[in-house]
Amino acid sequence: MSKSPTFSALQRPKAIKQLTSQTYDLLVIGGGITGAGIALDAASRGMSVALIEKNDFASGTSSRSTKLIHGGLRYLKQLEFGLVREVGRERAILHKNASHLVIPENMFLPIIEQGSLGRYSSSVGLYVYDWLAGVKRAERRAMLNKQEAHKQEPLLRKDILLGGGLYKEYRTDDARLVIEVMKTAVAHGANCVNYVKGVGFTYNDSGVVSGIEAEDRMGESNFTIKARKTVNAAGPWVDKVRKLDHEVKGKRLHLTKGVHLVVPYQRLPLNQAIYFDVSDKRMIFAIPRGKTTYVGTTDTDYKGVLEKPRTRESDLKYVLDAANFIFPTVNLTLKDVISSWAGLRPLIHEEGKGPSELSRKDEIFVSESGIVSIAGGKLTGFRKMAERTVDLVAKQLYKESGTKFKQCFTDQIIISGGELQEVDDFREYISDLTGTAGQVGYNFEGMQNLFYKYGSNTPEVIELAFDLYSEEADVQKRKWLAELVYGIRHEAVCNLSDYFIRRTGRLYFERGVIADQYPVLEKKIAAELTWSEEDMTEYKQAFFEEYEQVVTFN
Ligand code: FAD
Repeated sequence: MSKSPTFSALQRPKAIKQLTSQTYDLLVIGGGITGAGIALDAASRGMSVALIEKNDFASGTSSRSTKLIHGGLRYLKQLEFGLVREVGRERAILHKNASHLVIPENMFLPIIEQGSLGRYSSSVGLYVYDWLAGVKRAERRAMLNKQEAHKQEPLLRKDILLGGGLYKEYRTDDARLVIEVMKTAVAHGANCVNYVKGVGFTYNDSGVVSGIEAEDRMGESNFTIKARKTVNAAGPWVDKVRKLDHEVKGKRLHLTKGVHLVVPYQRLPLNQAIYFDVSDKRMIFAIPRGKTTYVGTTDTDYKGVLEKPRTRESDLKYVLDAANFIFPTVNLTLKDVISSWAGLRPLIHEEGKGPSELSRKDEIFVSESGIVSIAGGKLTGFRKMAERTVDLVAKQLYKESGTKFKQCFTDQIIISGGELQEVDDFREYISDLTGTAGQVGYNFEGMQNLFYKYGSNTPEVIELAFDLYSEEADVQKRKWLAELVYGIRHEAVCNLSDYFIRRTGRLYFERGVIADQYPVLEKKIAAELTWSEEDMTEYKQAFFEEYEQVVTFN
């Protein structure tokens, strides 16, 4: 399953036409990880599926997380054993099925004086954590004494350090995970289209939802999509979509904001990711990634505008203070921050609970008119969330029309790009490819970066770099152009914000070199997608607004 021919931005008009030409078994509203997982689960069971996303895929919370596929050590503190067990197991399944995107990494938990976990409780906690998650023996936690802990991570403050625990978590690229899951859903027959917004429901004579009025935000036309069942997977917008149906009754969302700051790796050169205590009894991460380290996250109630939440001065101060407390010699300041992102957790409201006490469990609500809404949950648990949602939809369809669909088998489905599974395999594979790709400018490191985005689809990107050889002499530009063309043709890239933010993560991790590359990429995308001068101006303005926003904190 290496190609996804119908997930091309060039085919978008055809996909839109198709949205209006049939009655789907299932319509999914929202193209974050929840919606993508549901589309894949339903399409693989044999349902006809449409998915609409009002902006770009993953443009909501699913590109703004801590980018970990994790068992959730903090949930152990809240005694949510079931959640820890489920997400721990999911972690292993995702590593198997999306091996290029879910990668084991060392995580270090420093034990400090007056920290939230003591030596004994950390040791027991990490043991239970590994046990619940079914972690392999070789990867289980190791406890370190003060000297060992300091040697492991010399930047940690020594005066209050008592020791530490070393354990395994998995890093990911959240937005790319969404795209690869969506590509896999498309390969199973789902019709997933970005920049299409659901603006109002349609009903049959009995008052049951029969589809949605949709707005094509690129073609500026409105049309109806007909569906037997509708799932609202709109993340932080779940209640807004519920309101399009009726007043929100019963449970409702409670949004909390979390921000991350990115600094150059030389300013916070950690040997591994660290999960550390903050003075308000919360814990946050510092995670090295390529030439950067990112630190976060906060957890504060949020009542503002849902589109593009921002990192404010108070968020900046909280994260910098936390980092400077635990790594006292680094003295990070505003000047060190090279990028940032802010995201909203779509949690379920519980009376009397503060942001960090709210459960991360997912819940499904069904409205009187039949709309199934799903909220809460984690990136890590998306496959199980999808299974529960599609089980419910399948049951309803069976009851109503006698149509029977397969049981869930997404634990067996290899996600697009995940066809190579063993780590040794990767190295050999990357070395082999570097031989050929070297001719168009890729060295081993460049190949590795490409591989951790595209996995077993990497050769398709390299082929495009060969095609671009005579067109672009500059190696760096040619490499970025190859990814752009791949993104347009295979990953529904409709503008350079999609490319720089969701498909490559460059706005966060390589922002410093974007401005130089922008003109050549703009010329290429304008030619591929036949943009007018007006389109170019509009998209450029939209991208550079985001480019400025990630380093603006007022
Ligand atoms: P979203 O990704 O927001 O997707 C919903 C989509 O619906 C949006 O793209 C939106 O544009 C679209 N939409 C809304 N209304 C409409 C409409 N009318 N028509 C069409 N489309 C519409 N989880 C982990 O497992 N690991 C982590 O490390 C982690 N870290 C986190 C850190 C932070 C700061 C935050 C905020 C969350 C974190 N999470 C983490 C949780 C995880 O990111 C979320 O649970 C998950 O991304 C939610 O995905 P979603 O698809 O439900 O929502």
